[in-house]
Amino acid sequence: MLSNFHLPPIQQIKSFIAQRANIEIHVLRLDLIHPYINGNKWFKLKYNLLAAEAQRNTTILTFGGAYSNHIFATAAAGNLFGLRTIGVIRGEERLPLNATLQFAVSQQMELVYLDRKTYRQRATVELHEQLKERFGEVFIIPEGGANLYGVQGCTEILQELPGVEEFNIICVPCGTATTLVGLALSLHQQQMVMGFPVLKGGEFLVDECDRLGKNYLANHKFSSGRFLAPWKLVCNYHFGGYGKVKPALMAFCQKFADEHGIPLDYIYTGKMFYGIMDLLQKGFFSSGSRLLLIHTGGLQGNTGIDSTCLQESFWLSYGNFDHELRSYTWC
Ligand SMILES: *Cc1c(COP(=O)(O)O)cnc(C)c1O
Repeated sequence: MLSNFHLPPIQQIKSFIAQRANIEIHVLRLDLIHPYINGNKWFKLKYNLLAAEAQRNTTILTFGGAYSNHIFATAAAGNLFGLRTIGVIRGEERLPLNATLQFAVSQQMELVYLDRKTYRQRATVELHEQLKERFGEVFIIPEGGANLYGVQGCTEILQELPGVEEFNIICVPCGTATTLVGLALSLHQQQMVMGFPVLKGGEFLVDECDRLGKNYLANHKFSSGRFLAPWKLVCNYHFGGYGKVKPALMAFCQKFADEHGIPLDYIYTGKMFYGIMDLLQKGFFSSGSRLLLIHTGGLQGNTGIDSTCLQESFWLSYGNFDHELRSYTWC
């Protein structure tokens, strides 16, 4: 199943401020593991797809917005592994389809639209029954891959990465926080996770993380002597909320890509990297800290917002990437 995937490289950010403060910042490039099924979305899909296979279910149905990275990755994975996929999209159909949905259709995903009110029922048994009546026996993956199979996959993000125990702070952007919980379940002693919610009022995720972590550890199918490492959320870098993009954020992403050769998406990674660079300037991290920033991918989403440079430079650099660490200078 994994034959098309690369081990993600870890790349160090050269920053004068970090150096002066005796702090190291490294980036785990999950955006480079696969051209389409990249970032944390692959990890959230993996055990869902294996569970579908174990149930001999060859149709995957899942939910997402019109720009969803999860819809994009599910469509690609379905196509790659020979599964039928149905994407239930929030809101009305808009033609022409945006780049995300065009891609999904090109990967043979069938799209179905639900008005926003009905879409809110996406996690209810009633709606699932209706969808099964319409499409037959389908394996339902929740929006964003946010279930215990998703957590299970995310416990593998740091697996097999040489030297990963040397980092003491792991940083990740959060939507549902499934990825954060998976990471927190896979850490060594003395390590912690810092999550950056991209939704406004991300404080609600605190209970959600507790719930997911406890359910995972209580479920014999999943828990294997793991513990939940300490985690914290930094809730003030949402830039107005989910899908909201400010010029300052776009400018930061462009500059960061130029200086460090790492493209960022505006919805998730851009906000986290902005937050970290800002906290660094404010003296938030203590001397000797070694940070590992998870680049969770999501670059396909930039096309809808900025169809010019970032996306193109990403595909070009993907083709030429040779897994060597380049050195960068901070100006
Ligand atoms: C979906 C997504 C996230 C959020 O992951 P959660 O597990 O829902 O917190 C973060 N970054 C990117 C790029 C994503 O596509």
